[in-house]
Amino acid sequence: MSIGVRMSGVFGKAFQVLTGKKMIIAKSQKDLEKMRAVGELIADVREALRSMVVPGITTLELNAVAEKMMRDAGAIPTFIGYAPHGMIPFPFAICASVNEAIVHGFSTDIPLKEGDVVSLDMACTYHGFVGDTAMTIPVGEVSDELKQLIRVTDECLALGIEQCHVNNRVGDIGAAIQMHAEKFGYGIVRDYTGHGIGRSMHEAPQIPNYGRQGTKEKIRAGYCFAIEPMLNLGTHETKTLADKWTVVTKDGKASAHSEHTLAVTHDGPEILTLTKEQKLKLKKGKTETVTA
Ligand code: MG
Repeated sequence: MSIGVRMSGVFGKAFQVLTGKKMIIAKSQKDLEKMRAVGELIADVREALRSMVVPGITTLELNAVAEKMMRDAGAIPTFIGYAPHGMIPFPFAICASVNEAIVHGFSTDIPLKEGDVVSLDMACTYHGFVGDTAMTIPVGEVSDELKQLIRVTDECLALGIEQCHVNNRVGDIGAAIQMHAEKFGYGIVRDYTGHGIGRSMHEAPQIPNYGRQGTKEKIRAGYCFAIEPMLNLGTHETKTLADKWTVVTKDGKASAHSEHTLAVTHDGPEILTLTKEQKLKLKKGKTETVTA
């Protein structure tokens, strides 16, 4: 889940205290083991949902499967009841945001239809630590325009993650994402950002999807981040619907969202929200690259 940066007044101050000024918490080896466990668990949920997305399925059905998988594994769906800054508690285990919805969408009984894109964002808490991940999936066959939007959003996530090396800075992440997204003319959502993560879903620092190289906080080993570019086909501007949660594009054009939780290690970024299979594949890929 992303966090809002457009906060003012009392809420804004509380938000600053909660995130802006707070120290970034470096995780111990023991903490990292738990972050790996919850990361793998939520990745399993994500992949199960990915395989279920076909024309005709409803987001309520996807939500039910996600919640059951989390609870069956002994985890807590982190989003249910989440109520920052006096907002109404979020009622679902996943955020399901269709087409022009960017983030924080409610699950509904409206069947997804061919040509839609659906962003699914999910998190769970397991042994006291949180894993957070999101993806945008085409429903059946979608337009080339939407395929490219999804692909570039995933690429932006990968480029952001590549910046997560010790002694780089948080601004390097946003700069890498921004540079790639702007090549395609996409609107980069500014009102919601990535974030530090650990025992809480939202820890310091805020990680915007735009920025300048060499600015903001220095990245250190043990930091865990949720990086989550949100790109729009049109303008970057957003608005929130009457349900007080669902964020949509102001111009009604489609949006895509991609997120991983990662740990910064001395060997570089370690993506935590991968399934066992995906980790093996990644390791094999790296070995092949090295030996090739
Ligand atoms: Mg998040």
